[in-house]
Amino acid sequence: MPDQTIAELWSLFDQQGNEPYFGEPVTQLEHALQCAGLAERAGADNDTVVAAFLHDIGHLLPAEAGVEFMDGYGTVDHERLAADYLRKRGFSEKVAALIENHVNAKRYLVAKYPDYDARLSDASRITLGFQGGPMPPDELLAFEQHPYFKPILAMRHWDEQAKETDLDLPDPARYLARCHDHLYERLN
Ligand code: FE
Repeated sequence: MPDQTIAELWSLFDQQGNEPYFGEPVTQLEHALQCAGLAERAGADNDTVVAAFLHDIGHLLPAEAGVEFMDGYGTVDHERLAADYLRKRGFSEKVAALIENHVNAKRYLVAKYPDYDARLSDASRITLGFQGGPMPPDELLAFEQHPYFKPILAMRHWDEQAKETDLDLPDPARYLARCHDHLYERLN
């Protein structure tokens, strides 16, 4: 099973990874590799590195009927599509939860820190409106209690930084191997 999943993931990146990362100067694959690299350099555990690598895979999945688009900035609910897709293929709840909450992390930070909005890229600010806007206070308190609150926020910061141009990028095989190890360990 892991082999089949890894082949499937690679074909998603291979077929669509050269698409631009909405409104940013990098491709989907560059963004994924940079995000995973940042997690790795921060000493994150394998679940977190895997989540960083796959956090936007929802944008690469085939569009299902009824899916809504954010005016050229990807699909609404891409984080939930990705989390469900990965859960079905045996990825851990931590991987799924980090991905599922990466948009909530932005909604949280905008609500919690008034200066944060100014730091958002234009694309990030535009999609925020489609994604429910800043978190209301009750949701904010509940979010702070999430068991993976810290790595969710850490991933949001790597996500923001993973938009550099002209970087030497690692071979995607490096992170596909980490995904493979993750699935393999869970089976055994
Ligand atoms: Fe992203």
